[in-house]
Amino acid sequence: MRSFSYVSAPDVAAAVRAIGSEPGAKFIGGGTNLVDLMREGIERPETVVDITALPLAEIEEAAGGGVRIGALVRNSGLAAHPLIRTRYPMLSQAVLTGASAQLRNMATVGGNLLQRTRCVYFYDGAAACNKREPGSGCDAIGGFTRNHGILGVSDDCVATHPSDMCVALAALDATVEVQSVRGVRRVPLADLHLLPGRTPHIETTLAADELITAVELPASAVAATSRYRKVRDRASYAFALVSVAAALNVRDGVVTEVRLALGGVAAKPWRAHEAERILVGAPATEDSFRRAAAAELAAATALPHNAFKIELAQRTIVSTLRQLLAEGGAA
Ligand code: SF4
Repeated sequence: MRSFSYVSAPDVAAAVRAIGSEPGAKFIGGGTNLVDLMREGIERPETVVDITALPLAEIEEAAGGGVRIGALVRNSGLAAHPLIRTRYPMLSQAVLTGASAQLRNMATVGGNLLQRTRCVYFYDGAAACNKREPGSGCDAIGGFTRNHGILGVSDDCVATHPSDMCVALAALDATVEVQSVRGVRRVPLADLHLLPGRTPHIETTLAADELITAVELPASAVAATSRYRKVRDRASYAFALVSVAAALNVRDGVVTEVRLALGGVAAKPWRAHEAERILVGAPATEDSFRRAAAAELAAATALPHNAFKIELAQRTIVSTLRQLLAEGGAA
């Protein structure tokens, strides 16, 4: 690992000042992704700004019935918190499917939002990778693509976003609070991550000097009837081949509200707007669920080893909605 300078920030103001004054600096919280990337030489910060002393580790009720989650809340604390377990069960379940218990004890909410793809070619310094080295090519295309994307991919990058937590946050219409020396701003989660296009190395809409300070969840009655289902090659410690975050409300046999987001299929958490549009007002039946899932995946494109994901995503949507219906999605 290259040598680097270390700065410990006592408060948010000092943290954003430090990052602004140190070109090439990076914030470090739990370090569960950044340290790996530094060891591999993919991230090469001149300075790391340690933010673990900042007072951002609380989960609190927000005005209007929502919840505010500090960026330094550990993943294990988020999953176990009563407000999250009862009001947003899909979020608790999503976090618990991610990584290992040891990693969840270290990893933070802010870091989870910014973790980078687990494309194996991205981590392999001998491989061409437009995300790691813009303009160098993409060895995944033409390589082994079982874990790569089927929605929103480009000719320059077909990687997927690795987070489970972010899939649930996308379905819940979360907002991300960020701070810099210029002040505070709020970014809808849907606008935080970017699809690759011609610039896969640009992954978010955050400026390099912006610090994520919190995630805000709006009040949501439907979120209480929600689930996260993850399909993967191993029962634990594996990234999603496909995952589904879903919430469902049904009245008199008709879908009144539904939230759907997919993981493991795109470079960002994929909100299934088309499926939601078809489902609202439709009978809460297997046929409707299938129709909506097929419409959402209609634009999917397969690579040589991941065509199975198109069918798998549809089946996972249908089975998750069926389970929610059976568990009490009917009002
Ligand atoms: Fe790099 Fe993206 Fe290609 Fe993977 S899919 S090698 S991350 S450019």
